[in-house]
Amino acid sequence: MTFRHRAGLGSDGRSAIMKMRFGLVCLILLFLGSAEAQVRKMKIYISADMEGVVGAVSGDQLSPAGFEYQRFREFMTQEVNAAIEAAFEAGATEVTVSDSHGNAQNLLIEKLPKNISLVRGFPRPLMMMQGIDETFDGAIFIGYHSGTTNLNGVRAHTFSSARLADVRLNNVSMSEGAFNAAIAGHFNVPVIMVSGDDAAVKEITTVVGGAEGAVVKWNYGFHSAKTMMPEAAYTLIREKVKAAVGRIKDFKAYRPKLPVQLDVRFKSYRPSEILSYLSIVERTDSHSIRFFGKDMIETSKFMEFILTYDPNLDP
Ligand SMILES: [Zn+2]
Repeated sequence: MTFRHRAGLGSDGRSAIMKMRFGLVCLILLFLGSAEAQVRKMKIYISADMEGVVGAVSGDQLSPAGFEYQRFREFMTQEVNAAIEAAFEAGATEVTVSDSHGNAQNLLIEKLPKNISLVRGFPRPLMMMQGIDETFDGAIFIGYHSGTTNLNGVRAHTFSSARLADVRLNNVSMSEGAFNAAIAGHFNVPVIMVSGDDAAVKEITTVVGGAEGAVVKWNYGFHSAKTMMPEAAYTLIREKVKAAVGRIKDFKAYRPKLPVQLDVRFKSYRPSEILSYLSIVERTDSHSIRFFGKDMIETSKFMEFILTYDPNLDP
């Protein structure tokens, strides 16, 4: 009995051990395989504005009514294409682009590569950062401009040149780049590269710290700059995106302290008066309001709301 039992262990036991070993090897291979897949996967988010695009200096290039707008959609698209190509060359496996200027329908979609996705149209809760989430590895800003309190920069403004005089997060005056970096930071995504005029690149890289910058023009004023030629700008953007994606582990997400104190100063009186009817809003002076967001998502939605809401909204 004992012997037979031992004999049984000898053959059945060995095959059981072999099976276990095989199972273990499979498990290890599976683990290594998925780890490798995770290492290889890299998602890049590109937010594209237009004021900072090569050669753009005034409304003539920036809105559908402008005589040069159709041509500058082309330059904007090519700048974004340069960034996309460089990101893929440097190891990105997935790219999402958000068209984030004016009506958010500027990029010429038939001229973008087929292996990306594109966010279009306003309004949207995360504004210029719609579509970003925690699965992304890095964010890139193309065609950006400086903020509304900056003394320098082509078309320096924050979200609305006509309506807003200042947008502050936790008492720091924000450019769109900085505000958007904070939205990316909510998802722990760092800003790795920015292009635009010299004022925009300086301002954004100062706030987010260490991002690669591509200066494609040098501002002389709100409506004037010395500019590179388009082909040179695409080359520079390509180089800087490659450099940034190549050292993507170096960058840290920009994360303001929570809750976020948002202060908005309007150019007119009435928005602050009417918004102060809401108990979540404090009117801090004749032109200004304060709102506390529990995070950047809530803060972004509030910002988009005050920029968009109008009782005549239709449909
Ligand atoms: Zn814009």
